Parts: sequence; C-alpha cells; structure tokens
Amino acid sequence: MTEQTEKFEFKAEINQLLDILVHSLYTNREIFLRELVSNASDALDKMRFEINRDPALDDEIESQISISYNEEAKTITVADTGIGMTKEEVMANIGTIAHSGSAEFIKQAADTNESLDSLIGRFGVGFYSAYMVSDKVVVRTKSFKKDAPAIQWTSDGKTNYELTILDEEMTHGTSIEIFLKEDMVKRFGSEDTLKGIVSKHSNFVSFPIMIGGERVNTVTALWREPKFQIKQEQYEEFYKFLTYDPKPPISTLHFSVDAPVQFNSLLFVPEKDLDIFGMDRDNWGIDLYVRRVLIEHQNKNMLPEYLSFIKGVVDTEDLPLNISRETLQDNLLIGKIRSTMTKQVLSQLEKIAKDDPETYAKFWKAHAKIFKAGHQDFLNKDKYANLLRFDSSKSDGETFVSFDDYIERVKDEQKEIYYAFVASREAANLNPHLEIFRNKDIEVLYLYEPIDEFVMESLREHKEFALVSAEYADLEKLDKFESAKKENEATPLSEEQAKDMDALAAKMKEVLGEQVAEVKISERLSDSPCRLISPNGAMTSSMEKIMKVMNKDSSVPTKTMEINADHPLLRSMLEIFKVNADDEFIELSSRQLLESALLLEGYLNDPHALVGRIQNLLTKAGGWYAELEKKD
Ligand code: ADP
Repeated sequence: MTEQTEKFEFKAEINQLLDILVHSLYTNREIFLRELVSNASDALDKMRFEINRDPALDDEIESQISISYNEEAKTITVADTGIGMTKEEVMANIGTIAHSGSAEFIKQAADTNESLDSLIGRFGVGFYSAYMVSDKVVVRTKSFKKDAPAIQWTSDGKTNYELTILDEEMTHGTSIEIFLKEDMVKRFGSEDTLKGIVSKHSNFVSFPIMIGGERVNTVTALWREPKFQIKQEQYEEFYKFLTYDPKPPISTLHFSVDAPVQFNSLLFVPEKDLDIFGMDRDNWGIDLYVRRVLIEHQNKNMLPEYLSFIKGVVDTEDLPLNISRETLQDNLLIGKIRSTMTKQVLSQLEKIAKDDPETYAKFWKAHAKIFKAGHQDFLNKDKYANLLRFDSSKSDGETFVSFDDYIERVKDEQKEIYYAFVASREAANLNPHLEIFRNKDIEVLYLYEPIDEFVMESLREHKEFALVSAEYADLEKLDKFESAKKENEATPLSEEQAKDMDALAAKMKEVLGEQVAEVKISERLSDSPCRLISPNGAMTSSMEKIMKVMNKDSSVPTKTMEINADHPLLRSMLEIFKVNADDEFIELSSRQLLESALLLEGYLNDPHALVGRIQNLLTKAGGWYAELEKKD
C-alpha cells in the first residue's frame, strides 16, 4: 500500500493566530513545551478514562510522556501514549480553531503589549505555540480506536498543512516533532534545558514525564500530602500550574473531610477575576479526581456557580473510577461534597473578612459580581449575607460596609436597613428620595448594579432588620427620628393657599397629561422641588428598569409626581397661578420639573427639549433680572 498525502489550507484565523504567536516579542517562548506537555497529559487522561469505562481496551501500555532532543536533526520530540487522533480528529483539532475563546484570544492578543504566556494557556491555542520556536512541526498520531490508521500531519505553520495516512504499525498515542528554528537551537537544543523547563512549568502533571530515561516531574497530588509538610511556594507553584495566573492566590484552602463522604480538597481564591474579558464564562469548575485519577477537568457540580471564581481540585475515595461524567450531576455523594465545600469556602471568606479586611477588600473588588449571584443559596443565607459589602452614605466611598457595620450604627429603635439604587455617590447626594434620610442622618446603603436589587429582594431581612428600599420607606417609621434643624423653613400655607396648591397640582397634571399618573403634594420632601415614584408602589424604580430591559421596553414609565409645596419654586408657581392660571410659566416649569426628575432617575431619552426649555427660561429670567437691576 502506498502512502497518500493530501494538502489542506489553514483557516484564516489560524493564519492570524500563527502570525501573532510567531511575532510576539514579549512572550516567553519556553512555554511551548508546557503547552505540548499539557496536551499530552490531557490525551493520557482521556485514554485512562476510556479504559476505566471499558477495561477490555487496556493494552497495558504505560501512560507516560517522553521528551527527547535529536542533536543532528535539531528536533525536539514530545511523545505520549494517550488517546491519539483519527484523521477526522486531526483535521478538526489542528486545522481549525475549535475553542470558542480563540477568536477572542486573537482579538485581545493583537493589541496587547504584554506577554501572552497566561493567555495562551487559558485560551487553548497551545499546540500552535510550537511555532514560536519552530518552522516545521510533524505530528504522528494513532487513535486508540480499532482499525484507525496512523496519521502524519506536517506544516511549516504558514498557509497549509499536509496529511498522510501512514503505512506503519503504531501503538496509540501522539508524537510531536519540532524542528527548531536556527536561532532557537542555542536556547532550547539540550535535554538539560528541557528538563529545567519541564520542572518549572509542568511539575504537577500527573503522569511521568521522561527525559533521557529519567523522570523529571516529581511532585504529584499535592492535595493529598499532609498540610504541615507543604511549603507556601509549593501551593503557589501548583496554583500557577492550574490557572496560568502569574499572580499568587490571595487565599489557599486545603482540607480533608472523612464524613459523610471522604475527600481531600485544595482550593484557591485568585487575586483577579481570571475571566478578564468576560468572554470565557465556561472556564470554571473544580478538577475532580477519584483516587488521584482525573475524572473531569473543571467539573461544575462541586461548587455553586456563584463561587465559580474558586480554582482547585477535589479528590475522593468514595466514587467508583468508572463513574460516567453524565451521572455526576445527580450523584448523591457529589451533592454532599458540594455542600461541605460550599460551607468551607464561605467560612474561609468569613475568616478573611474578619482577620484581614484588606485582603477581603481585594476579594470583593475582584469577585463581587459573581459572588452576588449567591442570593439564591437559601441554605447558606446567613453566611452569604455576612459576606456582602456595600457602599454607603456613611462610608468614605473607599471602604465598603457590611450589614453588621450598618447595624452597629443604627439609631435606637431603628428596625430597618435602608438601601437605594443610585448611579453614583454624587447622584445619591442629589437623589430626592434620599433627602429625608440625609435630613435625619439615617444611613443608606448604595446599590449600583441591577443584581443588588435581586439580592435585597431575596434576602428581605438580616438579623431581625428588614431590608427596605429608601424610595418607599414608610414615613411613620421615619417620623420618630429627629431632623437636622432646617434653616429657611417655609411659612406654612394658609388653608386657602393649600387649596390653591391642590388646584396647581391639578393644573400641572393637566399640562403633563398622560406623562404622569398623578401630581400630588409630597409629605417628605424638603430641599428638592419634586420626585417621581411608581404609582403601583410595589416596585422600586431600579427594579422597574431591570424589568424594562428584560422586556426590551424603552418607553418612559408613567410615574406619579410628588411636589414639594414648601419649595420656593412651587411657591412662585403658586403666586403666578393665582394671577393667571394659564400663564406660560406654569407650563414651562411643570415640564421642566418632570424632565429634570426623569433625568435624575435615568429615564430621559432625549434631552433636547429640556435644553431648549432651560435656554428659554434663562433668557426670560435674564430679562426680568436686568429689568429689576435697572429699577434699583
Ligand atoms: P486545547 O488543548 O486547548 O484544546 P490545542 O490547540 O493545544 O488546544 O489542541 C487542540 C486539540 O488537538 C486538543 O483539544 C486535542 O483534541 C488535540 N490534541 C492536541 N495534542 C494532542 C495529543 N498529544 N494527543 C491527542 N490529541 C491532541
């Protein structure tokens, strides 16, 4: 039988990727070896998995990775006895970019001036990194599947690759031969150098890595070692191996449990959200081992998604090795491991919060967004709530506060924790809903993100304190607290004036028509001329916004406008109204008040009318003022 060779063009994105890798100035080229070893290790994991499922497949070939350097040909070969690839798999895996993150990798890598080290590992573009040191790569592979022929893939990493069906016997596995570029021979052309690189980057690979007949990696299954024997550096090295994160973790959690289910676990809290582009949402989970054998990389049943920032491994004695990944989800033991792990992680976070607030603040900054989704974890509600942090009217805008901080400062007889959804601290200071709280010096927690609203809605209370939206606070509950002394207290309206004020409110409603549900006199405003509230009272304005976004509704909601009868503007309007109920000023200022309030609430889609009106009013006011000045 003659060998058949076919030529194929690379997909466009592969060309781009190769171009970036080859020309990346800042990247540490030695990581190509880490990538190839990691692929080999995955292939061995997959083979072991197949054997566990079907012991008949076991041909007793030892699982290992061997690396060698050929002085004459100037080639490095990385060979494994793993699962191998069929022709179709070779074409699908190393002729196209399968990983969804790769396109994003290209986009980000193209305009970063930084090292691509950690990007390459995380985005799964590993194989191609061989072209950072090589101008020709030859892959020989044989699938474990019966009757699949051995395949050779060859490419100079430019525009195309060749596939040949080999007419030779090969046991399952893959060997990757890398022809070093002329200028790379000096750097990488020795087995000692390769040993150094392997022990630096691939020390924790769980299969033997052989170079020159010697096993290079020694440390395995760190999570099974007794804690007291492990040095901090070893934890950090393992963390780096696991995550490609160049920074050490902010916290390490190593524990073992015997009942109700036996397991060892080694977990880390990264300093940053490792999904920096927010594009790689699926890149989470805990590596699940059964008796040191990797069953699943990034298993998503070990921890709830709101703890998905946690990286690490779990190893249990209590599951069968041949457990199928599909049934893991419903496995009772897994459920038990999960609930124990969740509690451990939450307790660890509580401990950090208590003992090391600075580190906790780092944690919060990096992971709060994901963590907040835990409001649905009712079983751990108290722990979860204790871990939440908020900006607050009583903080300095730098340090965030907990519910407990708030409770420590509450006024006597205060039974509520108040919160408000605001755009920023500055916006909070202008927010008419919060005026009464400023006046009475009652602390308000500031929420900035839609999810915060869901958090409050789910929790509803914390340690006997009801969580209450400031916007809908019950006035009677606030009455008992003393107000700061008001300076220009308005003279109370006479009975007749009060009636006129009601008529003015009716007039304003007439002017604004369908834009407002109602115009009524406010009981709680002091400095602001007006505020808007939802007529149905039940929904806070931010929740209303969330619902609108969900329903793709961009209309401006119809609100009830509350006016402040003591505000000088309303008093002036009242006087003008009494002289001429149809004066243009009433209409202008009614519209202006409504639109300013909508603007503060974030609802004003088109500010043009508002700007035009302000100019009109300013022009008039300027005219009147000039007249007045002349008279003096
Ligand atoms: P990633 O490993 O992140 O998927 P790579 O580009 O490094 O990205 O590899 C692409 C695919 O090629 C792998 O997912 C795997 O299916 C296959 N592959 C690479 N190396 C090997 C190997 N040594 N043995 C078997 N399959 C491999």
